[in-house]
Amino acid sequence: MDIGILRRDGRTDAFFDGTAAERLMIRHCAECDVHLAPDATSCPGCGDEDPGWARASGDASLVSWTVTHGRPAEDGTVPEPALLALVELDEGPWLYTRLAVARAALREGLPLTAAYVHPDEGESYLLFTERGSVG
Ligand SMILES: [Zn+2]
Repeated sequence: MDIGILRRDGRTDAFFDGTAAERLMIRHCAECDVHLAPDATSCPGCGDEDPGWARASGDASLVSWTVTHGRPAEDGTVPEPALLALVELDEGPWLYTRLAVARAALREGLPLTAAYVHPDEGESYLLFTERGSVG
């Protein structure tokens, strides 16, 4: 299932380099002084097709979410359900992301903060946890 979570494709290298260094990088058009989603392909204000990058605070609030149940593997193991969410960054852009929040705590507007996962293999990735919670 692909809901638009970012993949490294050359255009998003700055994002993944940032994630590896525990920084949330998003697009920023200097001309319009507006923040854009990391996967924005152009600035809607001036049409710049290669907006720059800026470091975001990592703070966000929850807009909506969905629980996905993966398909069982061939050996019958059922993967943990994953929480996928749409969050609004404090800088304005919306981002599809994974969520590590207790299901009971989920509510619209929940304050979130970025956290980073560095798997043994593959790209480091971003998820969001409840702001103020430990871990
Ligand atoms: Zn612009």
